[in-house]
Amino acid sequence: MSEVSEDLHKLIVQLKMDYPKIRFRLGKKFAFRPPRTIFFAEGQELELLHELGHARLEHDFYTTDIERLRMERAAWEEARRLCDQYAVEYDQEFVEMALDSYRDWLHRRSQCSKCGLTRYQTRDGKYHCPSCDL
Ligand SMILES: [Zn+2]
Ligand SMILES: [Zn+2]
Repeated sequence: MSEVSEDLHKLIVQLKMDYPKIRFRLGKKFAFRPPRTIFFAEGQELELLHELGHARLEHDFYTTDIERLRMERAAWEEARRLCDQYAVEYDQEFVEMALDSYRDWLHRRSQCSKCGLTRYQTRDGKYHCPSCDL
């Protein structure tokens, strides 16, 4: 792994020992591909631990957007713990920004394009407007 810094290399070696069932792959950007593959990238140690949080919590799928937001929050909570464990800096501000972008996304998705009311999502993933879909 000559492409990555020594610190990141050490972290990956440690993570591979601690999580032998998870596959850690160097990618362009961090990502979690359920059930077991995590892509990591230089300078994204915090995000890497966030993705590991998803893997540890077995976040394989979600049905509603609220559920997804809940998973994101849980994975960042997990990342905070993992940061302590692996001596990676936890950036609260960065995490809040990441969660905010999910909240914005959720807000946009839930708005009815016809009347602007907040729609609700049922377990099948479909959105319904309390005014237009009666
Ligand atoms: Zn996430
Ligand atoms: Zn509507």
